[in-house]
Amino acid sequence: MIRTVHMSGERRLTNRQVFLTAVERARSVNTPLAVMLVDLDRFRQINDVLGRDAGNQVLREAANRIGRCVREGDLVCRLVGDEFAVLLEGIESPALAAAAAESIRTEINRSFLAAKREVHVSASVGIALHPGDGDSAEELLQRADIAMSQAKRAGRGNRQFHAAGSETRISGKLEMETRLRRALDLGQLELHYQPQANLSDGAMNAVEVLLRWNDPVLGSVPPEQLIPLAEETGLIHAVGAWVIETAAAQARAWRDAGLHPVRMCVNVSPMQLNTGLVETVSRVLQRTGLPASAFELELTEGVMLARDRETGAAIQALRALGVDFAIDDFGTGHSTFEILKLLPVSTLKLDGSFVRGVCDKADDVAIVAACISLARTLGLRVVAEGVETAEQCERLRHLGCHDYQGYYIARPMPAHALEKLLTRPRAVRSGRVQLALAK
Ligand code: C2E
Ligand code: CA
Ligand code: CA
Repeated sequence: MIRTVHMSGERRLTNRQVFLTAVERARSVNTPLAVMLVDLDRFRQINDVLGRDAGNQVLREAANRIGRCVREGDLVCRLVGDEFAVLLEGIESPALAAAAAESIRTEINRSFLAAKREVHVSASVGIALHPGDGDSAEELLQRADIAMSQAKRAGRGNRQFHAAGSETRISGKLEMETRLRRALDLGQLELHYQPQANLSDGAMNAVEVLLRWNDPVLGSVPPEQLIPLAEETGLIHAVGAWVIETAAAQARAWRDAGLHPVRMCVNVSPMQLNTGLVETVSRVLQRTGLPASAFELELTEGVMLARDRETGAAIQALRALGVDFAIDDFGTGHSTFEILKLLPVSTLKLDGSFVRGVCDKADDVAIVAACISLARTLGLRVVAEGVETAEQCERLRHLGCHDYQGYYIARPMPAHALEKLLTRPRAVRSGRVQLALAK
């Protein structure tokens, strides 16, 4: 018989202590075992929206479903809230635990009926194995918990085995998270700006806005590290809003100073789209009086993964405000063509990895030429990224690319350095912005 343990007052009551005792007993007879922690994703929303009764219905059904995924004699126990612990005894190979976790995820993914409504939840599962992952029941449960948190961070609805050393990684991340929060509060984040220039007349009409974080202890944290951290911790909303507000204030200040107006191309993480981005952009437009055309939002194909109703509505709302979109890193993803059909984009940014070979690699030349021709047919502006040499620049001009960006023009730079370029829009027209900067 599967020992399924439900909520207090129902069938058999158990708790963390009962579970730990069972694990300790299994451990003492030295059978290989797996401790799994199953957490329902977005369960709180069900409680909030449909009420506690509906929430309890889902929990009861979830416990039954989990019970059906394990073998006779295994223990399923609701620990607290929407968290279930599972003890699998006599697990000879991790593959068996993985298989049980997979069937739990599949079962939980099926819709639930609660308050006469169909609701959907998913489950994140963390797995710790004995022997290997801990010297006590408490330690095994703790490590299953860490693995579960990692599974959640990897994007919910995942499963994850405990990995040795992950505690240090986690504490490293916690430390970084704390420091990032502090950096936001103390105004330690900074924006750099990298010009884009037109290939035919050298005019600089846009700059890409790039985030910089120089922490007093961690040193300079590259955006490749900072952005995923912000996404995992939910700080991306605050960080993203700060980027847009700061870029807008900068654009306003440059225009007020009578400098050559440039469009701000801001990178946006897919996670920002359905949480507050529309409000941030419209607030910023109102406050600064800037036209929506002063911005372009750069999206990657990652946005396709989060393609839900809210994301679609946010994109439409931003379009309605008059904001343009660019597809970033074009050509590196899997859904390249689909995204052109589904998103109202006006710019395509050719990834630097193709641009690098545009002078000497036949494949890259073919890809770049095809992308430029495709973009032109669709009436899109093409910006080549990562342009580092005069030869690349010449080749791209020849292939009909509109604009370019890269170290050949200038590296990303702080606002005060970019200002020098903006005071000489004529000099910029000489063809290479760096010429103007060098003077
Ligand atoms: P990205 O959007 O593809 O930005 C272009 C990256 O290429 C920048 O790196 C830039 O410094 C670098 N780059 C520019 N010209 C050249 C060149 O000629 N050669 C080479 N090798 N590299 C060049 P950075 O600033 O380190 O940013 C990395 C990524 O971080 C960005 O890639 C973007 O995806 C992300 N990112 C930066 N700022 C933000 C932000 O505010 N929000 C979000 N969501 N992502 C951001
Ligand atoms: Ca970008
Ligand atoms: Ca890019």
